[in-house]
Amino acid sequence: MTPAIDIVRTVRDLRIRVTAWRKAHETVALVPTMGAIHAGHLSLVSLAETQSDRIITSLFVNPLQFGPREDFHAYPRNESHDAAVLAAAGSDLLYAPEASEMYPPHFSTKVSVGDLTEDLCGAARPNHFDGVATVVTKLLLQCAPDKAIFGEKDYQQLLVIKRLVRDLNIQVEIIGGPIVREDDGLALSSRNTYLSPTQRAVAPILYQTLRQVARELEQGCGADAAAEAGRFKLEAEGFRVDYVAVREPDTLKPLHGPVQVARVLAAVHLGKTRLIDNVPMPLED
Ligand code: AMP
Repeated sequence: MTPAIDIVRTVRDLRIRVTAWRKAHETVALVPTMGAIHAGHLSLVSLAETQSDRIITSLFVNPLQFGPREDFHAYPRNESHDAAVLAAAGSDLLYAPEASEMYPPHFSTKVSVGDLTEDLCGAARPNHFDGVATVVTKLLLQCAPDKAIFGEKDYQQLLVIKRLVRDLNIQVEIIGGPIVREDDGLALSSRNTYLSPTQRAVAPILYQTLRQVARELEQGCGADAAAEAGRFKLEAEGFRVDYVAVREPDTLKPLHGPVQVARVLAAVHLGKTRLIDNVPMPLED
């Protein structure tokens, strides 16, 4: 039997644990999640294990980062399952605050990163990145970790967090972990459970298309033409396309002609489910 994980729900209890570790000269890594833990999250816990003595996993479905017509209420929640798999994966502490702990009455401060948050997912989801930036800033201040691990699955989010940590001089190293995929290429996501069997069968075409765009770029095709071909392919397969974009990997600035290095990113809808994915160009495998 795997040992039960220590669960804390208040900033006070969290800080008592972290202070004890610090007194013992132990280093701390934070893996923020919204729960519905899958192998993608667990890969970040494994990466954290190589980076620090202690691992905090946070579980908080952050209302601030959902739009009014988005899936906040439907978002999958299963804390006891999450606690068990996180314990087995080597996480030392589960920080699972109530919304009232995170956002007490009269909470009114917002962290807004600007620039990087204005297009791609930011254009389709107004206020989303302010919600992410605000909660991640709070999690970093509450946990005060040496390192925090985020997935490249949410590539724009990873860059937004690196930027806010730099801009606000938060003393933490942000580390990106590679995307974990199903055997057929679909990136693992808590939202994949929303897909019907028919949608699930179509979903891997997203990754295949991103790879096809990257291959066309490798062959010298211009960024705009390759992205447009990707959008056309996805629409033909029945996806509603939010964007297919070829961007500068560190700044997400648009690229237009032939490129040497880029990130290819897309967001699509299959029915009510929004899926995002991205690949590096040149492809790594
Ligand atoms: P979420 O619970 O969806 O907010 O995700 C929590 C963290 O896990 C974020 O840093 C995500 O980028 C990361 N993550 C989600 N899915 C994957 C995946 N398939 N591979 C790697 N990391 C992931």
